[in-house]
Amino acid sequence: MSGLRTATRLVHGGTVRSQHGETSEAIFLTQGFVYPNAEAAEARFNGEDPGFVYSRYSNPTVAMFEQRMCELEGAEAAIGTASGMAAVNLALMASVRAGDHVVAAKALFGSCRYIVETLLPRFGVTSTLVDGTDLAQWQAAVKPETKVVFLESPTNPTLDVIDIAAVAKIAHAVGARVIIDNVFATPMFQSPLQLGADVVVYSATKHIDGQGRCLGGVVLSNAKWIEDEVLPLVKHTGPAMSPFNAWVLLKGLETLPLRVARQSDSAARLADRLAGHAAISRLIYPGRPDHPQAEVIARQMTGGSTMLAFELAGGKAAAFAFTNALKVIKLSNNLGDAKSLITHPATTTHKNVAEDARLELGITAGMLRLSVGLEDPLDLLEDIDRGLAAAAAVRS
Ligand SMILES: *Cc1c(COP(=O)(O)O)cnc(C)c1O
Repeated sequence: MSGLRTATRLVHGGTVRSQHGETSEAIFLTQGFVYPNAEAAEARFNGEDPGFVYSRYSNPTVAMFEQRMCELEGAEAAIGTASGMAAVNLALMASVRAGDHVVAAKALFGSCRYIVETLLPRFGVTSTLVDGTDLAQWQAAVKPETKVVFLESPTNPTLDVIDIAAVAKIAHAVGARVIIDNVFATPMFQSPLQLGADVVVYSATKHIDGQGRCLGGVVLSNAKWIEDEVLPLVKHTGPAMSPFNAWVLLKGLETLPLRVARQSDSAARLADRLAGHAAISRLIYPGRPDHPQAEVIARQMTGGSTMLAFELAGGKAAAFAFTNALKVIKLSNNLGDAKSLITHPATTTHKNVAEDARLELGITAGMLRLSVGLEDPLDLLEDIDRGLAAAAAVRS
């Protein structure tokens, strides 16, 4: 695939055809593999023959997905997992031992925060959480025992943007591995490995599937670390991706550039409609010049986002009125889908975060998070107008 451009690699990358020469990638829905004789089995097990052994370790369809992701991300190696959280857990567990220290941004996906704050300490791994947009806090938090620096950017749900190259520099000065959860940026708009990160993780459940069908995740990095540290964990703890899900995600990658471009174009139009409306007290969209980290975005991202966040001046009542007035946009906590989805983080995805911590993250009672889908943008604009009218009525 060398010399070919991203969209082409996303259609053809990683494809391995069987003896039938099928056009579309085959689904190898098999647990195991048969060997022609005892010598062949021996060679497979001692690594002389690199073929497949068992689908908990690797599988031909999953391998096609992994290879296509490597081509997209510019990574040497990848491991597909059953979910995005399995990928995050794997990347962290493969990086730390008892006595190590992790520095992470506070604004993390809820389950990621659980791993860092609750799970890792059970195994003697301590952590410090920082405001990811403040480089001085990263600098103050790292120490010789810091083995991992972990962040997502843009963050969920407030779409703050963290300077990945600057954080990577601070982390590498103490020898820490930089792990980036790149879900919100999507692989189309941000390439963390090119910005100095060591590991990229995705929930493929989001834009990579893009049609709300199945869970999946992927860890991407250099071949040596994947082989020495990640693969043994995969083999012996079993977070393997289903070959069927790998096939769905492989087909999702073919249309990823088209979907993300269209969804972010529509998101930009909706952001412009919401900005400055009397019912809205704050609008955050990474594609607008009024984003608080617009200067970082210009350096590290090649597009805005399919996501936007905004706050209703009338608080929770106005946010609920806005949501309940919508006819096209669905109320759901998922994102990256062909269907536009809206959620009220304070009462759903972030309800378990204590109120003071929630407010510190900027998640107010009036805030809504919108994942923009593939509907006609004019229908979405009309829906937004319905929401705004309902929210304005609550206020007066
Ligand atoms: C959804 C999500 C995850 C978890 O992915 P699952 O596939 O649901 O396990 C992790 N990080 C971010 C930023 C996410 O949006």
